[in-house]
Amino acid sequence: MRVVETKAALRDALAAPRREGLTIGLVPTMGFLHAGHVSLLESAHAECDVVVMSLFVNPAQFGPGEDLDRYPRDRERDERMAADAGVDLIYAPPTEEVYPEGFATAVEVSGLTEVLCGDPGARGPEHFRGVTTVVAKLFNTVGPDVAYFGQKDAQQAVVIRRMAADLDFPVRIEVRPTVREDDGLALSSRNAYLEPADRERAPALHAALGAAADAAEVGAATADAIAAARRVLAEAGVEPEYLEARDAERLEPIETFNGRPVLLAIAAQVGGARLIDNVIIEPNAPGRTRGA
Ligand code: AMP
Repeated sequence: MRVVETKAALRDALAAPRREGLTIGLVPTMGFLHAGHVSLLESAHAECDVVVMSLFVNPAQFGPGEDLDRYPRDRERDERMAADAGVDLIYAPPTEEVYPEGFATAVEVSGLTEVLCGDPGARGPEHFRGVTTVVAKLFNTVGPDVAYFGQKDAQQAVVIRRMAADLDFPVRIEVRPTVREDDGLALSSRNAYLEPADRERAPALHAALGAAADAAEVGAATADAIAAARRVLAEAGVEPEYLEARDAERLEPIETFNGRPVLLAIAAQVGGARLIDNVIIEPNAPGRTRGA
């Protein structure tokens, strides 16, 4: 496994594999790897000839009051885990390499980025502008055939699919299931912020989504499923920042389960960590839920 820090070195390292027609898989990360990242890396390793992992804590997707400065980092451990998962090349650029002096461009997907986490009362659309700008740059610098993202960040996956389609990036977007702790808590680098008492409350997000899925059937009001979820959260003393039912692809609000996949998404501050989770509910479909 090689580690490069500049676009020039990255392009150099990928020139020969590209010439030979090998397929390149990209897994973008902000580091502090956990089993969720590893599952994406292993998928890429199984399905592509060359695996590139980017490791970049992207300042553009953090708001002014957010956790950019304290975001957990452990470069040595990340490199070991990446090597074990079959990564061939880590691209870990310094901030100036991605945003040099004078940088003035943004990529913005409209419509999908002003709701849920993009609501001005949550992280705001600037968050997704930061994500799409850096992912567009990664697509251009790496030139992957396939790029892997986690269902844990469901809205991000929808927004990136839209961007890739709208801007004609010749890349296939793969979205893989959320990896969880045994008690249901979705793995996240931010779980490191949870004090023990908060860690005990945190699985309530997943439990609440499960209660909502149980209440879902075609023709039922999504408000009833959301009420079931709220009861579980209240028992654990968790107040959601948002808890909403939306069309899983268009992200429009859904009032009644209509047989199409419905994204039930939640964000909540639990102690020091802002946590997100989601489930896709497909009432009456075989298997009923996916991405859980
Ligand atoms: P991050 O480092 O948090 O920006 O995440 C990098 C990638 O890993 C994103 O595509 C995330 O959606 C994905 N990811 C994060 N947590 C999980 C998880 N628990 N299960 C699966 N994928 C995840």
